[in-house]
Amino acid sequence: MRKQHPVQSADVGDRPKRAAGARWSRADIKVPDIQDLAKRLRFAPQQGRIWLDDQRMMLMHISNLGSLRQELIEGMGKERARGLITRIGYQAGARDAQMTRRVRANRSTFDDFLAGPQLVSLEGIVFCEPLGLHIDVEKGEYFGDFHLVDCAEAEAHIASYGIGNEGVCWMLVGYACGFTSAFMGRAILWREVECRSMGHEKCRVIGKPVEEWEDAEDDLRFLQIGDFVKWSTSDTSAANKTAAGISPRQAEGTSNAFGMVGISSGFNTVVHMVKKVAPTEATVLFLGESGVGKEIFAHNLHQLSDRKEGPFIAVNCAAIPEHLMESELFGVEKGAFTGATASRPGRFERADGGTLFLDEIGTLSFTAQGKLLRAIQQGEIERVGDSKTRKVDVRLIAATNVNLREEVKAGRFREDLFFRLNVFPIKVPPLRQRRDDIPLMMNWFLQRFSKKHRKSITGFRERAVDALVNYDWPGNVRELENMIERAVILAEDGGALDLSHLFTSGEEIDVSSFTINKTGRIELNSDGETTEPSLAASKIMISTSLEEAEVSVLRSALKNSNGNLSKAARLLGISRAKFAYRLQKNGICID
Ligand SMILES: [Zn+2]
Repeated sequence: MRKQHPVQSADVGDRPKRAAGARWSRADIKVPDIQDLAKRLRFAPQQGRIWLDDQRMMLMHISNLGSLRQELIEGMGKERARGLITRIGYQAGARDAQMTRRVRANRSTFDDFLAGPQLVSLEGIVFCEPLGLHIDVEKGEYFGDFHLVDCAEAEAHIASYGIGNEGVCWMLVGYACGFTSAFMGRAILWREVECRSMGHEKCRVIGKPVEEWEDAEDDLRFLQIGDFVKWSTSDTSAANKTAAGISPRQAEGTSNAFGMVGISSGFNTVVHMVKKVAPTEATVLFLGESGVGKEIFAHNLHQLSDRKEGPFIAVNCAAIPEHLMESELFGVEKGAFTGATASRPGRFERADGGTLFLDEIGTLSFTAQGKLLRAIQQGEIERVGDSKTRKVDVRLIAATNVNLREEVKAGRFREDLFFRLNVFPIKVPPLRQRRDDIPLMMNWFLQRFSKKHRKSITGFRERAVDALVNYDWPGNVRELENMIERAVILAEDGGALDLSHLFTSGEEIDVSSFTINKTGRIELNSDGETTEPSLAASKIMISTSLEEAEVSVLRSALKNSNGNLSKAARLLGISRAKFAYRLQKNGICID
């Protein structure tokens, strides 16, 4: 939940408190150093990515923005184009507000709020000069008055249309509305009262609560008041429910019907294909590395199908010994031949009327493959030791992390079965090929595990974000999930997740990327030139000796398990003996 800020205004000294709407001179407002925000902007050209904290960004030509605006205005009419552009700005502003509440969590209300205007400057859109500002989050009082100097949007517009008679900085006005409304937890409306496109020297915007504007409807049209109100109510309630510092956007994860979050094209393609094939009866084959979430996708497919009322039976073929596989899948009939004392149905029968999910199907023996093929082709099975056949109505979903075509070539997998399974293959890409999903998943897992372990974690340290988005994730989503659960357990209650909580199993991490330094140049953030304190800190972290890191991890684990060795060992995924040995080796005593 957002920290409750005390009343703040630029009203210094002991002047009487003024009502919202009063104006203070520029000199009263001290804009904080931008470096904390600038450090969040990272360039990773080897990946073709620019990150602003956990959001992917892109450089755009102003001339392109101009063409885009012109096309929109001429294609859909000025009113609709203005609405669209305003709402895009609104979304960006609301998103940036969530980021700044993390970055400036412990700062004054003013510093925290001014991160918004500073971010639009950092993003190259405009330079903002505060003229007057009054903020009281608790009372819901807000007044803002800003000059916008050399606005990129006005520049793009003037290039196409010249000087006119109305303000054209729609995206910026939308941004200000989004940022301030998210910041205040109530609808704040901004209006452009002067604009370069009207011949003024600078643009000027004024913002106050929507109720305080007399003719707000005119402006709200462009924000589509319906969505706007819905957003602000659900947002605050989500913010109130969640632990400190976990933003509403992260809370959205839980209501995600898919049981998974993602925004990358790779993720969306899989979701699209699952939705497409779900209502049919087609056999589906999921392909992809271990840990990418094939079973979750299979389960979703079942939920989206007409069989959702029926059972969903999952079998990991690799986990069942070969000699038990047939009886597991098809059941067993009691009798002298089988030695079984009781008859029991197999997974196929239990999945009758529903879906059977066979994971790691590439590990099935040749005999089991033959029986499986028959079950699929004829829709009937025979229990082991039984002579009668039974009809089963089962939809089959299979998954594998091996190349079945190669297995067929090598003579280890039946070609006829392969063709039966390969009707509708869906490839789930590894996490490293859909890095855009990582920030979303990080926050989603953080929220889930904070709740599960009843801890309030404020978020991720900046260098932890760097490391997580750059890491290669050989174990994919499962590895990320496990790592965050372990980190939540290790971290101090009320603190943030840091590298030392996350990478505890000797993973190779590379946190090098490019950030902008104080002179505005891009530099490699892991090289030795920088004097920025927190970058220096991240270097120290990386060069921290293994022993020091180990001691810190061992102590955390002990603390979190109240000194119970077995429990502490389990937290770290090692044996009790190994844990005890590590303690002794590092000279850690327990009482
Ligand atoms: Zn303007």
